[in-house]
Amino acid sequence: MRFDSLDAIFFDLDDTLLDHRGAVRRGLHDVYHLYPAFFGSLDFAQVHAAWHAINEAIWEEYSRGLLTAGELRLQRARQLVEWVRSMLGATAGIAPEEIRDSYMQCYENHCTLYDGVLPMLDALKDRYTLGIITNGFASVQRRKIGGTELGSRIGHVIVSEEVGVHKPDAGIFRIALASANAEAAGSVYVGDNYLWDVRGAAGAGMATVWYNAIGTHRPAEYADVDPQAEVRSIGDLASLFGITLERSPQS
Ligand SMILES: [Mg+2]
Repeated sequence: MRFDSLDAIFFDLDDTLLDHRGAVRRGLHDVYHLYPAFFGSLDFAQVHAAWHAINEAIWEEYSRGLLTAGELRLQRARQLVEWVRSMLGATAGIAPEEIRDSYMQCYENHCTLYDGVLPMLDALKDRYTLGIITNGFASVQRRKIGGTELGSRIGHVIVSEEVGVHKPDAGIFRIALASANAEAAGSVYVGDNYLWDVRGAAGAGMATVWYNAIGTHRPAEYADVDPQAEVRSIGDLASLFGITLERSPQS
């Protein structure tokens, strides 16, 4: 497929343009060091693995509409506190609200873009309509976009909490296309999550690029949808659109 003949490029945010996975790990690491009496003899790798499992399960509940955003944030902190207690027995008392608030602050402090994202967008922004379609909390996603200089380069930002529909529902992609006055047939969506991003955007009739930086295998149950391209780095992504970045950043 000729990517350079398209009119519009829409991106996922977390783990596509922005190193969300790294921010989670570094933010949680800060929290771990803020409360040494609470985390006691647990090592950080254990805490990180527990947090990852709690977060995956609770986002699944949130995506099925079983929780509000506020409930998600409090409940995952509460589950972490319960997990620490189950591992250590009696521990220093801590309010889940404190873990919730300090985690969100520490996480946001560590949100940075992958190398090469801003030069790539600078080369694209005069040739294509650019947008972001992200599942997440409006206030958090908007701060991340504003704080990383994406906001000045990408005109159309759609956050699931604001529009009341989330990926992989084709509706959120259609809302984004309408907001950018773009046609699905002339648009591509780039994202890391096979279900949410590749299948979701394909369901709305868009071309798709799977941003598979960590080299995961495609889930077998999704063999029915092929992306038009799969890339491993921002440099590879830029080259689909005929752009050579000065260094070849690895993301
Ligand atoms: Mg993502």
